[in-house]
Amino acid sequence: MKIAILNCLAANDVCAGAACLHAFNSRSRHFAQYGTEPLELVAMGRCNGCAAGIDEGFREKLDRIVEEGAEVCHLGVCTRKRETNEECEIITAAANYLGSRGVKIVRGTH
Ligand code: SF4
Repeated sequence: MKIAILNCLAANDVCAGAACLHAFNSRSRHFAQYGTEPLELVAMGRCNGCAAGIDEGFREKLDRIVEEGAEVCHLGVCTRKRETNEECEIITAAANYLGSRGVKIVRGTH
């Protein structure tokens, strides 16, 4: 199973991606559902920020996720707003775009 992870640029100042990668490597939390199935992490990227929205570069990243054959894209917990726990609208739009190209969306990593 080919997997991609999409995260929030605003978390970049403090995030090394370690918690997502730990969950992926240990098949825990939102990756536990795969059991012993072989997994390949084919992309791990961030949006281009709130001001940019889905700009040309972000679209290119999303297209690359598709081109790399990702079957599932996990959305990091950082893509939910801290105050309300609602998903960021830009990430929702990105998820819808990936979904329209055949990539299953799973909300959550660790
Ligand atoms: S657009 Fe959404 S996911 Fe991207 S930095 Fe802003 S809040 Fe985070």
